[in-house]
Amino acid sequence: MASAGRKRKLIVQKYGGTSVGDIARMQNVAGRALAAQKAGNDVVLVVSAMSGETNRLLKLVNEITPRPSEREQDVVVATGEQVSVGLVAIAIQTQGGKATSFLGHQCRIVTDSTFSKARIQQIDGSRILDVVKQGHIAVVAGFQGVDEHGNITTLGRGGSDTTAVAIAAALEADACEIYTDVDGVYTTDPNVAPAARKLDRISYEEMLELASLGAKVLQIRSVEFAMKYRVPLWVKSSFSDDPGTLVCEEDATMEDLVVSGIALDRNEARISIRDVPDRPGVAAKIFGALDDKAIVVDLIVQNPPLGGKSDLTFTVGKADLTKAHDVVKKVSKELGAGDISTDQDIAKVSIVGVGMRNHSGVAARMFRTLSTEGINIMAISTSEIRVSCVIPSKYAELAVRALHTEFGLDQGAKKTKKAK
Ligand code: ADP
Ligand code: ASP
Ligand code: MG
Repeated sequence: MASAGRKRKLIVQKYGGTSVGDIARMQNVAGRALAAQKAGNDVVLVVSAMSGETNRLLKLVNEITPRPSEREQDVVVATGEQVSVGLVAIAIQTQGGKATSFLGHQCRIVTDSTFSKARIQQIDGSRILDVVKQGHIAVVAGFQGVDEHGNITTLGRGGSDTTAVAIAAALEADACEIYTDVDGVYTTDPNVAPAARKLDRISYEEMLELASLGAKVLQIRSVEFAMKYRVPLWVKSSFSDDPGTLVCEEDATMEDLVVSGIALDRNEARISIRDVPDRPGVAAKIFGALDDKAIVVDLIVQNPPLGGKSDLTFTVGKADLTKAHDVVKKVSKELGAGDISTDQDIAKVSIVGVGMRNHSGVAARMFRTLSTEGINIMAISTSEIRVSCVIPSKYAELAVRALHTEFGLDQGAKKTKKAK
């Protein structure tokens, strides 16, 4: 990406919840931002709510009702980031620097009106650039925006990553650095599999799959933005000086692995509808009604029909379960379908790798590994570079570790470079 003809480099640094988890950590962030500025860069910070805060706010809402107005819920949960930007700006000023904080609406992060998972449509970077030109560090609230009617919106869990990359794209920044509590992107979540290895680089495409499959180190929309606008994206630790992982275009120097990462998603829930009439238009009706409520459906499994009826199972995000259940209850009644059951104790484990394009038998190897561990597969889905299995959540960590070993990803396993 171009540096827009500027003399100084412009860097966007994003600090996640753990990195601003208490005042000492915010002071550490202030120090890092000032050091980057002193090194000759213009600096824009994007910060998240203090760790645990967004969950706390959602819990308060939930104590009143499991079916809140989504507009008002966004008003509540967006406040976590407001506290963080103010405190980080004060920390910078106290260390002798200049800083100005911005909420989403103040720097015109305009989104659509899909409350709780809004998409950024446009950012007016001029207010941020104005203060940066005057030597300030701009401290922007992640996760929040404003719609065309002036309503506060939020971008979905983990959305501060997307704020950061979108700002980096809008300002044509030289780099976007995502600071978190691990020192890069690993072959799998290092908190689940201690044998996980840090990757020096990963392609946008593989990162996109990993993020979409539950590797919450980057929100999927942030990777989409980075890929679309060619933003060089670094994932680094705010607690060390490790160079981290660069998310970039695929190239010949990347490791040649059949499977390059394993993702685990515990945020999905299963809904099953029994005895769904087997006739054209039924699936369209059920999934159309879910789509009308902006509920994203992931895996879908339909059993072969018996006596003109079949069972339908699909997964949705846990946060959407109540809403999805309400929708399905209504539509099932209209269709004359049978009982509805739900299950939150599921996990989705996925293997990802561009190398799968050139290797056969990868899915079978995955199923065999799970079977050897005695793990039952409830649903399967595949793409060109991914295989996902839904399994009982109690086996999630065992499955990740077994697959990590099976596909040669453990630390110390032999690595090969791609042939040039
Ligand atoms: P932040 O609050 O900084 O945004 P998150 O908790 O959203 O941090 O993301 C960082 C976490 O992502 C790590 O602590 C780790 O448990 C998890 N994670 C999942 N998959 C991976 C992976 N492949 N590489 C690194 N971290 C991962
Ligand atoms: N605070 C929000 C969340 O917890 C956004 C973020 O941290 O990226 O999901
Ligand atoms: Mg995050």
